[in-house]
Amino acid sequence: AAALEAMSRLVVDVPDYPQPGVVFKDITPLLADHDGFHAAILALAESGRDESGTVVVDKVLGMEARGFILAAPVALDLEAGFVPVRKAGKLPRACLSESYALEYGTATLEMHVDAVQPGDRVLLVDDVLATGGTIAATRRLVADAGGVVVGAAVLMELGFLQGRRVLDDVPCTALMEI
Ligand code: IMP
Repeated sequence: AAALEAMSRLVVDVPDYPQPGVVFKDITPLLADHDGFHAAILALAESGRDESGTVVVDKVLGMEARGFILAAPVALDLEAGFVPVRKAGKLPRACLSESYALEYGTATLEMHVDAVQPGDRVLLVDDVLATGGTIAATRRLVADAGGVVVGAAVLMELGFLQGRRVLDDVPCTALMEI
């Protein structure tokens, strides 16, 4: 509980960013603090283990861009592979692609076709769960590849946006909730 409270203090509210009315959660002070960053990575990695501590995932997926920063060290801790999920047009080889609705317009996420193998057990890692569109689209990418999403782990959930409603049966663990 003390560690969680320390972690919360390292996530800074930025009013009216990136647009008026939005309060952006800035995690860069947490990343800059070794103890906080380390505690966050170990806590996120718990979602990749069962009650006995056995690792239950083959791949950890991180969503561009802050998801990369968290998912890569989580993958190392779990002795699993890391897979980047990127915005359209950024990955160099053949990709699977999924679009989702934003408040204005749509966004497209991509993953290399061979990054997740059929039967791979996958953990999704991102910084913030907001409307849930990012995690839901990534889950569809994993399904397209024949993989199985074991769960999702995020630093922070913006509960008032009710993103869990679009996650269906994907268990999502949030270290902090507002
Ligand atoms: P969602 O798809 O609406 O759940 O939005 C989640 C995505 O938007 C994540 O990839 C986050 O990185 C990003 N995001 C949304 N709100 C914030 C915020 O307040 N701080 C940092 N990232 C955010």
